[in-house]
Amino acid sequence: MTTIVVLGAGLGGTIMAYELRDQVPADVNIILVSKGTKYSFVPSNPWVAVGWRDREDIEVELQSACDRRNIRLLPQGAERLHPEENRIALLDGTSVSYDYLVIATGPELAFDEIEGFGPENNTHSVCHIYHALMTRDAFRTLVANPGPVVIGAVQGASCFGPAYEFAFILDKALRDAKVRDRVPMTFVTSEPYIGHLGLDGVGDTKGLLESALRSHHIKWVTNARVKAFADGMVTAEEVNEDGSVKATHAIPSRFTMMLPAFRGVSAVRDIDGLTNPRGFILADKHQQNPKYSNIFSVGVGVAIPPMGKTPVPVGVPKTGFMIESMVTATAHNIARLLDGKTPNAQGTWNAVCLADFGDGGIAFVAQPQIPPRNVNWSSSGKWVHAAKIGFEKYFLYKVRLGKSEPFYEKLALQALGIDKLKSISLDAG
Ligand SMILES: Cc1cc2nc3c(=O)[nH]c(=O)nc-3n(C[C@H](O)[C@H](O)[C@H](O)COP(=O)(O)OP(=O)(O)OC[C@H]3O[C@@H](n4cnc5c(N)ncnc54)[C@H](O)[C@@H]3O)c2cc1C
Repeated sequence: MTTIVVLGAGLGGTIMAYELRDQVPADVNIILVSKGTKYSFVPSNPWVAVGWRDREDIEVELQSACDRRNIRLLPQGAERLHPEENRIALLDGTSVSYDYLVIATGPELAFDEIEGFGPENNTHSVCHIYHALMTRDAFRTLVANPGPVVIGAVQGASCFGPAYEFAFILDKALRDAKVRDRVPMTFVTSEPYIGHLGLDGVGDTKGLLESALRSHHIKWVTNARVKAFADGMVTAEEVNEDGSVKATHAIPSRFTMMLPAFRGVSAVRDIDGLTNPRGFILADKHQQNPKYSNIFSVGVGVAIPPMGKTPVPVGVPKTGFMIESMVTATAHNIARLLDGKTPNAQGTWNAVCLADFGDGGIAFVAQPQIPPRNVNWSSSGKWVHAAKIGFEKYFLYKVRLGKSEPFYEKLALQALGIDKLKSISLDAG
């Protein structure tokens, strides 16, 4: 009997297992290897961090959805992948073997690359639910004892949307608490300009985000390379086009939250031919690894080169819709391999994003994500906040249901002209 293992039960891995169940014959074993039995909706973490959501609002117990879809859940977590043996050693000492593997392990957070960085040290985080819960306690302390705040994304980061979101959400939460007037805010980012987002901007994200920062009284520093996070102080160099130092900023901060650089997780890192030097999984246009042809990858863990040279390194974001397009392509391609054919589906990697500001927001669509684009659109308004709440509820409903893309979603995306797959070549393979 054929076995397909999906490693990692986050945004990409969970819907990967569901979509495989729809695409491959019922007698194929599908195993989802997770850390724990709960799915957690990462995009809602900024809301958790200011007390607008509780942990239980954004988590789903996966066991019943997996039982319903005939997917075996192994919640003990992976210790190490052994691709030459088609085997994963699990953290409880057991092993799971596979015929096909999809790696969906997301990012490891590289806090150790900057002195004093991370929730164990002098900064807060919204990357994991348990970080967001710690940040909520720090937010309450800030409200009780207001002072300066630094928000942003460090050198090598690829996830800028949540940094902007958290700055505006925090601004709103502090206004609601009537202490915003005692909290000077600075946005510090490695991006060459506000609204670059690792994508060289989308539509007018530069103008929209600069204007939003100005009207919310948030100062900014771009081209920033953080040197250290001390208790109460962020030290960052602002660099010129040629990489030379233009200014060194010592910014007082009572509450700091900056997105870190990402790298691949230790269970799959440093495997020759599978990963790049930062541990991201190498994948071709069909999401298939060039060396290990039975290994596919989806999500933040996939290696994507940066968009172009910038004075301070910035990565390309891997956003939700883009990840869903990787999932759909992978499910098609594995189904074809099981059928004795060659992979032919390619994800569109379109970026469709909603950046929430707590009472408004910015939306953008980049088709494809890498310029030049066919669609390069951004807009702002109160509707974005409502749409983000709708998206959260809908995604959690899909995970609970055990469905990747109910038919009405397919219809809606078709109506909007947003596709997950590039046209599939009709080869005879
Ligand atoms: C704070 C934040 C907000 C974001 N907001 C948005 C947004 O609004 N819109 C958007 O489009 N994108 C957003 N993103 C980007 C992206 O969509 C998310 O990061 C998304 O969760 C990535 O999905 P993933 O499956 O690649 O990784 P994850 O969702 O992080 O899932 C990885 C999973 O692998 C598991 N795992 C890791 N190692 C092991 C192991 N050894 N064994 C077993 N399991 C393992 C982890 O426990 C985790 O469950 C956001 C990202 C962040 C950090």
